Amino acid sequence: MMALGQSYLDSIQAQDLKEYVTFLASDEMKGRQTPSPELDKAAAYIAGEFKKDGVLPGNEGSYYQIVEWTRGKGAGQLVRNVVGIIPGKDEKLANEYVIVSAHYDHLGVKTGAAKPGEDVIFNGADDDASGVAGVIEIGKALAKADQKRTIVLMTFYGEEKGLVGSGYYVRHPVFPLNQTVANINIEQIGRTDDTEGPRVSAGSLTGFNFSSIGKTFAKVGASMGVPVTGHPRYSAMYFGASDNLFFARAGIPAHTICTAFEFPDYHQVGDSVDKCDFANMEKIVKLTAATVMDVANAATRPEWNKDEPQAAKYVEAGKKLYGGN
Ligand SMILES: [Zn+2]
Repeated sequence: MMALGQSYLDSIQAQDLKEYVTFLASDEMKGRQTPSPELDKAAAYIAGEFKKDGVLPGNEGSYYQIVEWTRGKGAGQLVRNVVGIIPGKDEKLANEYVIVSAHYDHLGVKTGAAKPGEDVIFNGADDDASGVAGVIEIGKALAKADQKRTIVLMTFYGEEKGLVGSGYYVRHPVFPLNQTVANINIEQIGRTDDTEGPRVSAGSLTGFNFSSIGKTFAKVGASMGVPVTGHPRYSAMYFGASDNLFFARAGIPAHTICTAFEFPDYHQVGDSVDKCDFANMEKIVKLTAATVMDVANAATRPEWNKDEPQAAKYVEAGKKLYGGN
């Protein structure tokens, strides 16, 4: 059998990732609060990159799923999930979907009195401009590939307010949930200064043992020299802490890939662009793109792990969603 070329990965470049993160996490974006004009600007930027890269509008000709924000200050304003697609090329499998996602909101600006010269902007470079940069770059790479299933690229508003954008999507899906075979969510792939020590050329997955996607990531990672593992505590602990959660609850095998589960400036104003390692990020994005391709081309769909007690409720949700036993 001839080795499959991986040239589609060549377009994934550290300098592009740096460009996206630098824009999204700049002080001018004021921490991308939900809702805010800066959040809208970020959405337009992401949609613009999709368009440039040949990623098609995912929601009836639009890159946006527009929603009215209903909570607290800013209620009544419109917010957006950004949705792009790369249609699958296989006649039968093209109506199955693999969702690649990240959240583009962050914490905004510190409220209350600031000392003169104090940094008050939560830039959210690693959390999660890095993941959004990954989604954009994967879209660019896969738009030139010819995978069997359809790839959906999605960035969510309101993650920091309680997974609001992804929760809305799962309640109002654009693509049928029972034809959505996986969600691969990307968070915190810029920082290598893990609180447990440097973490380079390695990926970490939440809920590593919960579904077959853990093994797929590990297999692809091994072939690229970027091992992917869980973590004795954090892998399960952080499974419910990001936008994969509502997909999982609906029964869709869904995980978050990250570099470090914890890093020193988490939810601090110091989560800034200068601390990201873009050469390492390129490796993680290539790894993720190749894993998405593997899932998109596999003969069978990913499955929840019936032997993992912590995944029991997701196994049950999966049976309800997809049928079978
Ligand atoms: Zn995050």
